[in-house]
Amino acid sequence: MTDQYVVFGNPIKHSKSPLIHKAFAEQSNTNMRYETALVPLDDFVGTAQRFFAAGGCGANVTVPFKEQAYRMCDELSPAAEMAGAVNTLIRLADGRIRGDNTDGYGLVTDLQRFIVLQHKKVLLLGAGGAARGCLLPLLAAGASQIDICNRTIIKAEVLAALHPEKVHAVQAEQLVGAYDVVINSTSASLSGYLPAIPAVVVSQAVCYDMMYGAAPTVFNLWCQANGATQAIDGLGMLVGQAAYSFYLWRGVMPQVEPVLQQLRQQLADEHIA
Ligand code: NDP
Repeated sequence: MTDQYVVFGNPIKHSKSPLIHKAFAEQSNTNMRYETALVPLDDFVGTAQRFFAAGGCGANVTVPFKEQAYRMCDELSPAAEMAGAVNTLIRLADGRIRGDNTDGYGLVTDLQRFIVLQHKKVLLLGAGGAARGCLLPLLAAGASQIDICNRTIIKAEVLAALHPEKVHAVQAEQLVGAYDVVINSTSASLSGYLPAIPAVVVSQAVCYDMMYGAAPTVFNLWCQANGATQAIDGLGMLVGQAAYSFYLWRGVMPQVEPVLQQLRQQLADEHIA
């Protein structure tokens, strides 16, 4: 029987995950099926339980169900514990469900294509689920300091308290620059807004917007105009987190680069069409 995988979300129609996992499966001659599942907002746990009871092998979880997925698992990886959210569900041999979070892995492996993170000073904009999931992987990659700046400062303070030696909450008005890496994990780009920070902060920094699309994000355009050495979007993070999910399910780490190029081309074609 073909192994069944799924991505749970709402909305889910525009998810790139089926295309990514199809490409990974082809790379490794894996016989698997990966589909989208539109989950009713009030029935995530029931839907997931039915999927696994029917023999499903694994699932990705996206907005708005990552916290519910975290709560339904029988066991959690350290990354999922730290993130307080699960984006990957794995059915274990004994039928129990393990939750993991591969978003931070996706971010860090993509960033490392552009900069060595060892001893680097990072500014993290935003303090939502994605920011939380990235803290431990950034520290594990050697970041020496992470400052978190968020519109709602108390949320930055809560995250900073998880790693008080290296992570600090900062107010936008206190920012004076001198960061090696600036990561935008706010959802501001989705609505075409910029996080309110001084332009000097991105000058000479490697800048990364977790959002992606056919055209450069508003944040990345602004970073380029203000002296950033690089302005990278989150497409590589998307493919990287999917690659690690695939590895957790199948024990094979797929190649990210060809799939990233394929996806980038597809986005460009959709933009022109
Ligand atoms: P959350 O809803 O958990 O957090 C949103 C964050 O954005 C909060 O810190 C919020 O601040 C801030 N924010 C929202 N609007 C604005 C604004 N106008 N100005 C300043 N700050 C704002 O979202 P996630 O953390 O789950 O996701 C964040 C982004 O990362 C999304 O764009 C998402 O698409 C992207 N992402 C990309 C992935 C990838 O693979 N490339 C994977 C996961 C996420 P406040 O606390 O004040 O409300």
